[in-house]
Amino acid sequence: MTQALFNNYKRRPVHLVKGEGTKVWDENGKQYLDFVAGIAVLALGHSHPILVNAMKEQSEKLWHVSNLFENPEQEKLAASLVADTHLSHGFFCNSGTEANEAAIKMARKHTGKHKMITFLHSFHGRTFGSMSATGQEKVHSGFGPIVETFEYLPFNDVEALKAAADDDTAAIMLEVVQGEGGVNPVTPEFAEAIQAICDEKGILLVVDEVQTGIARTGTRYAWEQTALKPDIVTLAKGLGGGFPIGAMLGTAELFETFSPGSHGTTFGGNPMATHVAQAVIDTVFDQQFLADVEEKSMFFKQQLAEALPNLQVRGMGLLLGIESPKPIADVINEAEAKGLLLVGAGETTVRLLPPLTVSKEEIKEAVAILKDILA
Ligand SMILES: *Cc1c(COP(=O)(O)O)cnc(C)c1O
Repeated sequence: MTQALFNNYKRRPVHLVKGEGTKVWDENGKQYLDFVAGIAVLALGHSHPILVNAMKEQSEKLWHVSNLFENPEQEKLAASLVADTHLSHGFFCNSGTEANEAAIKMARKHTGKHKMITFLHSFHGRTFGSMSATGQEKVHSGFGPIVETFEYLPFNDVEALKAAADDDTAAIMLEVVQGEGGVNPVTPEFAEAIQAICDEKGILLVVDEVQTGIARTGTRYAWEQTALKPDIVTLAKGLGGGFPIGAMLGTAELFETFSPGSHGTTFGGNPMATHVAQAVIDTVFDQQFLADVEEKSMFFKQQLAEALPNLQVRGMGLLLGIESPKPIADVINEAEAKGLLLVGAGETTVRLLPPLTVSKEEIKEAVAILKDILA
């Protein structure tokens, strides 16, 4: 194979050419169940008619307009995202890392401080701010001085947090379930401690919902199932259902912090992205849809517990992880051969993130394959 691309991905030797719902096909016509879903991107699966239509509709009207002009679709989407929450405002960008950059800038500007607490095994993105926020040495390695000042604490360790959070701290930033880091959910005690410390010391709370948001965990946002009441929430992945879009949401108190010129983007929230994202949100924020995700999650966990009673399963909603007794590279290879696409998380976890539209039948098929490999 020629090598016209940089070598920054370890790509699987599979060339997918078509997808429908949870199913995808490679160039040889082999069918797979897609339990990667673009890493939690394809909330409605592949080629969902609602999104295909939304895309067609908007592409015939208006593709792009600069953020120098009015954009009522952005207004509407932001209002949908904050409806019935304590949050008030939104900003749109194109990706998770950009959403977190906006959050870091907002937290610094609002507080006038620059110390931020994040956690070991977290993942917040690949640009300098978000990379620096990420509590993984291997993500920083080779790039020289990172952005000051992030302190990486052990996750779910209340004492370490109490010792580190002080009057110089601008913000605490976390994922409700560490996705890339191994599918590690925040414990209820830790969520309570974080919120109490933020309230007591006036520290901003940033919740990175890039992976956990947009109904992935059975509620609109994962923080809704915890004691966390974030000042800032970041989104991307599932938000566009496959069309690139990210967002930062925040409370009314933050409104004055950004003024015209404080922050911006050329593409962020353009009409194509916002129109498709609106169709995603209108579908997945429906109460019945959310209840279905939760029900499928329980079914999935139950099936896994029966098939693999000795293995630990972690996670929330349709973001699950199995602690694997085998090297995860082998599990992924074997599953692929048997027609199931998987992705790892951390060193020892197999991650399961099917489209939120996955059927119980498809969950059963996937569990049968996992049983073959892991039992
Ligand atoms: C994927 C991810 C990001 C980065 O998103 P990109 O769109 O790849 O920049 C940030 N935070 C979390 C929790 C993620 O899972």
